Amino acid sequence: MFLRIDKLQIELPMPQEPDPNAANAVNELMGGRFGEMSTLMNYMYQSFNFRGRSRVRPYYDLIANIATEEIGHIELVSATVNSMLSDSMSHDDPLSTPLGGAKDLNNLHHFIVTGQGTLPGNSMGGHWNGDYVFNSGNLKLDLLHNFFLEVGARTQKLRVYEMTDHPVAREMLGYLLVRGGVHALAYAKALEELTGTDVKNLLPIPEIENNAFPEARKFEDAGYHRKLYRFSYDDFKEVSKIWKGPSPDGSGDLEVVDGPPEGSKEKPDFPDAPESFAPSVNPEELEEIARKL
Ligand code: MN
Ligand code: MN
Repeated sequence: MFLRIDKLQIELPMPQEPDPNAANAVNELMGGRFGEMSTLMNYMYQSFNFRGRSRVRPYYDLIANIATEEIGHIELVSATVNSMLSDSMSHDDPLSTPLGGAKDLNNLHHFIVTGQGTLPGNSMGGHWNGDYVFNSGNLKLDLLHNFFLEVGARTQKLRVYEMTDHPVAREMLGYLLVRGGVHALAYAKALEELTGTDVKNLLPIPEIENNAFPEARKFEDAGYHRKLYRFSYDDFKEVSKIWKGPSPDGSGDLEVVDGPPEGSKEKPDFPDAPESFAPSVNPEELEEIARKL
């Protein structure tokens, strides 16, 4: 079962300059084939369907624990998309076509289907889909797939980074590049433990280090690339049988942190979008409801 903490894994800049087309590019990292919904659901189903976990506990613990971290990643990507969509339209009355600007954007569903919110889909309007989940049941094959999925996700994050310098997107990308680096290395180490093959020699894919990007370097300087969080009070302790030894960059030892990251102090509150009737067309009515509560 799961416990929910109402924080983001990192502090994000509050909503600022809108950029709805860049928000849509970021939406790929939510519900595209290599998005956070995919990493989440791949590891989650692999952990649900895992057979013989008592005999190979460290691998089960690793996959199950990383799955939990990915829940926080979908939350972070959605906060980014929502921040970038905020205040992108006029708040004028419905007769003045306040959503007129939306019809020329790349993804009309942000404005027709949702109240300017993240979609569980990709940047081309396609829906996230269960076929993106790979779970053969074979431990070696699933771990190999997870390594591939993390470096595929990294490739697409880097391309979205190259599409936008929006500060909210870049902050999220810096953090998730580092966390994805931890996951890719963790799966490489799991495969090495299991087979003796030095999979981590393949890294980085693509062939550019995270510290080439200032928003990622900041998190590496703070050691985030050496930490694997244990998202549980008492469970998943055997991740430390895989996540151990020196960090490949020579900066120190890999470390299992008992508990989640400290998280953000503030969680961005997204402004009303009255032109989308979100949360209501009438702020006075909401104030009245709040008074009654
Ligand atoms: Mn992730
Ligand atoms: Mn990951």
